[in-house]
Amino acid sequence: MTDKIKDLVTAMTLEEKALLCSGKNFWQMEGIERLGIPSVMVTDGPHGLRKQAGEADHLGLHQSVKATCFPPAVTSASSWDKAALYDMGQAIGEECVQEEVAVVLGPGTNIKRSPLCGRNFEYFSEDPYLAGEMAAAWISGVQSKGIGTSLKHFAANNQEKARLVSNSVVDERALREIYLAPFEKAVKQAQPWTVMCSYNRINGVYSCENEWLLTEVLRNEWGFQGLVMTDWGAMNDRVKALKAGLELEMPGPDPYNDKKIVDAVRNGELDEAVLDRAAERLLTVIMRAGEVHKKEYDAAAHHILARRIAAESAVLLKNDGMLPLKKENSYAVIGAFAETPRYQGAGSSRIHPHQIDCVLDSLRESGIAFEYAPGYELEQDTINPVLLEEAAACAKGRDGILVFAGLPDSYESEGFDRTHLNLPKSHTALIEAVTAVNPHVTVVLLCGSAILMPWRDRVESILLTYLGGEAAGSACADVLTGTVNPSSRLAET
Ligand code: BGC
Repeated sequence: MTDKIKDLVTAMTLEEKALLCSGKNFWQMEGIERLGIPSVMVTDGPHGLRKQAGEADHLGLHQSVKATCFPPAVTSASSWDKAALYDMGQAIGEECVQEEVAVVLGPGTNIKRSPLCGRNFEYFSEDPYLAGEMAAAWISGVQSKGIGTSLKHFAANNQEKARLVSNSVVDERALREIYLAPFEKAVKQAQPWTVMCSYNRINGVYSCENEWLLTEVLRNEWGFQGLVMTDWGAMNDRVKALKAGLELEMPGPDPYNDKKIVDAVRNGELDEAVLDRAAERLLTVIMRAGEVHKKEYDAAAHHILARRIAAESAVLLKNDGMLPLKKENSYAVIGAFAETPRYQGAGSSRIHPHQIDCVLDSLRESGIAFEYAPGYELEQDTINPVLLEEAAACAKGRDGILVFAGLPDSYESEGFDRTHLNLPKSHTALIEAVTAVNPHVTVVLLCGSAILMPWRDRVESILLTYLGGEAAGSACADVLTGTVNPSSRLAET
């Protein structure tokens, strides 16, 4: 701790120290004007920057400033490429520098315990080693630009259903070897500026006030140096949480809880030294943020990087010879996702991208001849017989068919879990209708997590692009045409 921070803590009143312990508003930490302590911004994350300039929310509902939408974690993890994650982190760090954001809320490195978790697209893997390596590389990339990260959601937050109240019951060995392991790796290798506690309880104790988790394990065993904040609204007992090692409650302000801290010191329930230590940790982040000077980033270069990572992350699940596409052939491209791709997940990680590449444009630019038919409606999962018939007619007699299918936003999102692993009926019916008239079919899948593929033996090739970020379309064309070798591997079963 620097002398400056020590002096500031000494100069602060009890009320000012308590004030620092909750946010100023939805996205800013509190500052103290009297002492020249600025208020700094912390915001989502993780596969790009979601800085809301107008109305604030933690569900991705209101618009944010434009930023590069990189492929979400489910996609980038399939690259198994730490350098790519580091590069993405650096680019996001540069966007934070321009937008004057001190801490970006990511990465999310929870283990995929069930394929049904609605937020699996935001997590790397079911494998603790891979998840930890990817998280560490991303953190190092962001922080190399003088911007902080928030490793989340600590810990054992593996479902969305009832996430605010659920209790993860895990024995210590499973917890340490599986659920905590990616966090441990990321903390030890990359030392994130902050860690975000999860909403849930772990073996009966809320993460926000779990002293074993936040102090014994995170700080004493792993050597974490930064500060711990709540997920948005994850505070339970404010004084207990402070004692357990949680400094910052978000969002703020929370004058009611600030007063509880003041009262607890006054009535002897809380040692003021605990509050001083929290203030020191909070000031350390604020001071570090002050060392960065605003500078513009190169959006075009970031788009190229997003395209490279998306192409590098596509998994070729099957290829009986139809790929790469050939310029002398005539194709049908079928499925509304080809025209309007699903390229990121829904919820607090929703980025407002600079541009969205369309695979139809990119295929045309590559000299691939095709006709397009939507085949299904984007907003409905019921079968539209007219579109289905039109698609089958378009598929007849072609040298090959590309069917774009996957999961719409309404199927997977932050906030709820799936109840089955099926594609929408309209997508499955389309694959069946097309394979009935032409066996030369490649299915391109756009989805954020595992799905069932009962039709897999009836198609020639399957390319799993997951959610490709803003360059999903051009990256997909790069792989389909053979410009990029699809060298990725699944990071989940
Ligand atoms: C999410 C976090 C996110 C926060 C702020 C919460 O609902 O779980 O991941 O960082 O909102 O948007």
